[in-house]
Amino acid sequence: MFPDPTLETLRFSTNPPIAERAGRILVVDPDESRRALIRAMLDSEGYEAVYLPDGDEALRLTSEYEPDLILLAEELPSGSGLELCGELRASDPRRHYPVLMMGDDGEEHSMARGLLAGADDFMSHPIRPVEMRARIRVQLRNKRFYDALERLRDERDTLRRDAQIDPLTNVLNRRSLESTVRQRCLARERFGVLFLDLDHFKQVNDRFGHESGDRVLIAVSNVIKNGLRPGDVIGRYGGEEFVAIVAGAGPESARLVAERLRQAVEEMHPPVPGPSRITVSIGTTVFDPRQLDETPQELVHRADLALYAAKRGGRNRVVMVAAGETLPELEGKELPHQPRPSPPGPPEPPILIGWERRSG
Ligand code: GH3
Ligand code: MG
Ligand code: MG
Repeated sequence: MFPDPTLETLRFSTNPPIAERAGRILVVDPDESRRALIRAMLDSEGYEAVYLPDGDEALRLTSEYEPDLILLAEELPSGSGLELCGELRASDPRRHYPVLMMGDDGEEHSMARGLLAGADDFMSHPIRPVEMRARIRVQLRNKRFYDALERLRDERDTLRRDAQIDPLTNVLNRRSLESTVRQRCLARERFGVLFLDLDHFKQVNDRFGHESGDRVLIAVSNVIKNGLRPGDVIGRYGGEEFVAIVAGAGPESARLVAERLRQAVEEMHPPVPGPSRITVSIGTTVFDPRQLDETPQELVHRADLALYAAKRGGRNRVVMVAAGETLPELEGKELPHQPRPSPPGPPEPPILIGWERRSG
């Protein structure tokens, strides 16, 4: 798309500018003699620049060219530079394109309007090259700080995400899952907890290899994700075990969701090479806000008890153990996930990212 030969001029500096001065500048000014003056100054500073006589292409060009600074005349043939400035601000809130607006000499109101419209700085006509040079450098310096801050913010988001997400399946990891269960318990609204465990998964690895096993885990996690609704949550609890939180569910609807997921896994086409069919056992329970003394660990443990019963009952099935119910045949049995406090670790960030279905 770029450069566009219809643009009046496109200039790249032949000598790479020194780091302090490096920068790409978009100039939008209808006045030819001013553009010539600005060009001479930008050339002498070694900037890369694009010149437009009007603002109608400015938005498109900004997203393509990603300038470090926009020199924008207040008066444009096709409209107001002030409006364009507002549109630039609204176009991409994550990117900041500094705008140095140029307007009428001595017009105090014009300057105030420009700044209030979102310009970072304002210069009056006629252009004073030395002053403009300094103002451009200041804006480019600010832009470098801003970009560094953006990079840090992106890195922080990535680190936060990595700390919450299981890298193989891209669903919440166990720590985030447990934290989410705790948060949901504190909200004291009912929800279902589904403990899913793939049946005879060890055989998949043994027969088709660990990579095939990994692909099966990814496929199953996708099937579960797609079977849940906005507000529900899924996470990987351990090797071939997933926990789903079903928002607002009582015993019957939690059981129905579990049954739907069980069926969806059974009906999915497993990745090849791999087994022809995958099944999952699901232990299901519900958080009952009336049970004030129940801990999140006990809740997950009850789902685990139900899972154990599903395995003993022949696998590929759902067993529901409602709040306050017990399974006498399992009392005193050693289960894989006895209730226990979360492993110690740094303070948890709030769950901001993670797989959580959203509407739309
Ligand atoms: P059951 O029906 O009783 O659940 O039998 P199972 O074979 O699924 O259960 P078991 O606990 O004996 O085996 C779980 C297997 O899951 C063993 C382990 O190698 C495999 N596993 C755990 N994590 C991963 C993983 O990240 N990738 C792969 N490919 N396999 C994994
Ligand atoms: Mg298991
Ligand atoms: Mg298993």
